[in-house]
Amino acid sequence: MTGDVVRYEAGEDFARRMDAEDPLRGLREEFLFPRGPDGEPVVYLVGNSLGLQPRKAKPYVLEAMEDWERLGVEGHFKAKHPWMPYHELLTEQTARLVGALPLEVVVMNTLSVNLHLMMVSFYRPTRERYKILMEGGAFPSDQYAVASQVRFHGHEPEDAVVRLVPRPGEETLRQEDILATLERHGHEVALVLLGNVNYLTGQAFDMAAITRAAHARGCRVGFDLAHGAGNLKLSLHDDGPDFAVWCSYKYLNGGPGTLGGVFVHERHARSPSLPRFAGWWGHDKETRFRMGPDFQPIAGAEGWQLSNPPILQLAALRASMELFDRVGMEALRQKRERLTGYLEFLLERLPPGFVDSITPSEPSQRGTQLSLRFSKEPRKLLEKLGAAGVVCDFREPDIIRAAPAPLYCSFLDVYRFVEVLEGHARD
Ligand SMILES: *Cc1c(COP(=O)(O)O)cnc(C)c1O
Repeated sequence: MTGDVVRYEAGEDFARRMDAEDPLRGLREEFLFPRGPDGEPVVYLVGNSLGLQPRKAKPYVLEAMEDWERLGVEGHFKAKHPWMPYHELLTEQTARLVGALPLEVVVMNTLSVNLHLMMVSFYRPTRERYKILMEGGAFPSDQYAVASQVRFHGHEPEDAVVRLVPRPGEETLRQEDILATLERHGHEVALVLLGNVNYLTGQAFDMAAITRAAHARGCRVGFDLAHGAGNLKLSLHDDGPDFAVWCSYKYLNGGPGTLGGVFVHERHARSPSLPRFAGWWGHDKETRFRMGPDFQPIAGAEGWQLSNPPILQLAALRASMELFDRVGMEALRQKRERLTGYLEFLLERLPPGFVDSITPSEPSQRGTQLSLRFSKEPRKLLEKLGAAGVVCDFREPDIIRAAPAPLYCSFLDVYRFVEVLEGHARD
């Protein structure tokens, strides 16, 4: 695989050749695959929902368990990786993952919790400027979080939430429409909150352009990167949003319900006056254990921490973050574009009208995932996929989301997926 333009071919041989030439092919061995009905590793296309378990996750968790057994409370300082600063093991890797300064990121809590904490600080409605601009099709948790924040400040969501919706007959948002809405409503918008990538359509936005336009209108900007972290190559510091939040159990393979991540731009790193909900783990490390009454936040994102974090979860996440750090997002972006491009190529060869991708076809406007609408018995198709050892996810009434995660999915996986689709189309 050289150069960025790949001429895809239809047969299975081509998939095998691409895998043989794939510089990242060895990474597949670093993950544990569930087995399908035939006892073989499944084709796992739901890394956008729950990433696979890295081989090293269990030994890392066991190490913390054994330290606890051996050392009890002393583990805070004497464990192989002491618990007191354990979360710091993830800071630099996380910063590289999302294109941020170490000061700007922290691993803590879970996504929806972090979204609330960020809105406490960055949704500061005034009489004239009190609205939140978001996607009409945002993930439900984000909609609940936003509506409840708006009500918390005494507003009604019907009035205070401005929703971006696609044009009639279209599935995804147009960048020009987002910018036009900002132009029209920007003066009354306190916060612009977008997902990147959208969980349902797979659409990715131009974060830099949206952030620039929103800041020019005086709005604060936050991104929900649940489907972006570990999927897109991000440059949060340069793009400049005020904050971002994400979870680490999707593309980041940190394990079910594991800790999420937060980005707070450097420009807010030393603003002790910024309102926030505080806890002792966000307090200046030098004086934390003096247990004084006054809160002095750590500079940067760490200053938003509330509690001492769950070490077992951090241990599992560390296994995956080491892999991301070893490979880097640029190599993953290249493989991702090829894998998803190959999937798109194979889909285009299926009978006309059988399947329609609602995800943008322009690689810069999407990540790994293609959201596919099937006209013919989608539930039955899902059963056939399951029987063939292909794991996908279904969204009512007719969307199957397929995300060949470049860390552990192969070209042959994509081929096998489309093979089942083809059988169904012919049936
Ligand atoms: C997965 C996802 C969530 C999940 O939130 P949790 O707090 O981790 O349960 C929230 N928002 C988006 C956009 C998601 O895709």
